Amino acid sequence: MSYLSVKQLNKHYGPTQVFENIDFSAAQGEFVTLLGPSGCGKSTLLRCLAGLTAVDSGQILLQGEDLVPLPPQQRGIGMVFQSYALFPNMTVAGNVAFGLKMQKASPVHIDRRVNEVLALVELQDFVHRYPHQLSGGQCQRVALARSLVTRPRLLLLDEPLSALDARIRRHLRDQIRRIQQELGLTAIFVTHDQEEALTLSDRIVLMNKGRIVQNGSAETLYTRP
Ligand code: ADP
Ligand code: ADP
Repeated sequence: MSYLSVKQLNKHYGPTQVFENIDFSAAQGEFVTLLGPSGCGKSTLLRCLAGLTAVDSGQILLQGEDLVPLPPQQRGIGMVFQSYALFPNMTVAGNVAFGLKMQKASPVHIDRRVNEVLALVELQDFVHRYPHQLSGGQCQRVALARSLVTRPRLLLLDEPLSALDARIRRHLRDQIRRIQQELGLTAIFVTHDQEEALTLSDRIVLMNKGRIVQNGSAETLYTRP
């Protein structure tokens, strides 16, 4: 049985079928990219995995447990958005600590864990800054630290590089991959950028118009026999 197994997932908005009969899986520690043109349903699919949007039908099995009936905070999932989505009136430490505070973790544990994940994204010296005092790349690293602080079973990344300029994008891309491998994280990464998909992924799930059209390693998708 796969670590993550998405089965026959369906979602529509009014008359619009956003995606239909989505089936894919991820092994533990695998970096899977959902690649496809804008509007094909990638982002909605990711939000459904996180529980931020309800599905119409289907199953999302994570370590054998169906996540569909669970609220977002009980799914054990970390998520990073294109727009960072940091709390503007909280410091870096406050933003990163948020998930643990919701779990009522002890202050000692929170301090230790916040320092740990900020070290992971190389932002230890920024704890007392506010988001408006950070660059876009730094904001996204804070968002990544915030998503990791509760030790999620699954990391979801929704176009996390798209708002950044090319040099920063490459740096963060490499940092994401390093951290994912170091922690042995299972990650689902959404992008419309083929180069990102090819350089980051263990496996690429190609989507078009709400359907999966191909699923395989970068080599099997893009090299001729
Ligand atoms: P992608 O991430 O691949 O760009 P999305 O998941 O954002 O695609 O959108 C897929 C389709 O679903 C689009 O046609 C979009 O207009 C539609 N859609 C997304 N969110 C909503 C919503 N809240 N209400 C209605 N339609 C939506
Ligand atoms: P507060 O919200 O108490 O005014 P901060 O916004 O600076 O303070 O910090 C929010 C949370 O982050 C604190 O509850 C604390 O647990 C943690 N924290 C604060 N400073 C540090 C630090 N230097 N290293 C690690 N964690 C910190």
